[in-house]
Amino acid sequence: MLAYIGIGSNLGNKRGNIHRAVKALGADPGNRRVRCSPLYATEPVGKKDQDWFVNGVISLETSLSPRELLELLLGIEKKMGRVRGEKWGPRTIDLDILFYEDQILKEPDLQVPHPRLQERKFVLLPLRDLAPDWVHPALGKTVSRLLAELDTQEWVIPLDEGNEKPCTV
Ligand code: AMP
Repeated sequence: MLAYIGIGSNLGNKRGNIHRAVKALGADPGNRRVRCSPLYATEPVGKKDQDWFVNGVISLETSLSPRELLELLLGIEKKMGRVRGEKWGPRTIDLDILFYEDQILKEPDLQVPHPRLQERKFVLLPLRDLAPDWVHPALGKTVSRLLAELDTQEWVIPLDEGNEKPCTV
C-alpha cells in the first residue's frame, strides 16, 4: 500500500530530527521504498509565538494497516521525546498520515485523509514535490489543484533547492 506521511519539527536539530524519524520509518520491516520530499522552513500556524518549523512529506510502501502505521508513528514520536501538551505547541517531531492509498477513514482517533491537509501550504508544497497528480479521494482534486486553490499568506521557504538528495535514508 502506498502512504504519504507529513513530517515536521520545530525543536532542537530540526533537520536531524526529521532524518532520524525517516530512518526509523525505513527500519520497520513493514515499510519499503521510503522517500522524502525536499524540506521547507515554515511559519508556525495557529500558535505564532514559537520557533519556525522544518516540514516535509514522506512516501512509503507499507504492509502495515492504517492503524498499525499510526501506532508506529506515535511510537516514533514518543521515542524521540515529543512532549505532548499544548495544541500546536513546540514539538521535536510530528508525524501525520496524510493519505493511505485511496482509503477514507473517519474514526475518532484516526481520520484519513488528514482532515486539514488541504488548508496547509506547508503540507501541500512538499506533497506536490512527490505526488502532484495524486487525487484526494474525498475532495476529488489533485494535490496540484488543491495547492493552486489555497489562498493563504503563510511563509513556506524551500531549504533544498538544487539539492538532489535532501533526505536520504
Ligand atoms: P497531533 O497532536 O495533532 O499530532 O494529533 C495526534 C493525534 O491525532 C493522534 O493521537 C491520533 O490519534 C490523531 N489522529 C487522527 N487522525 C490522524 C492522522 N491521519 N495521522 C496522525 N494522527 C491522527
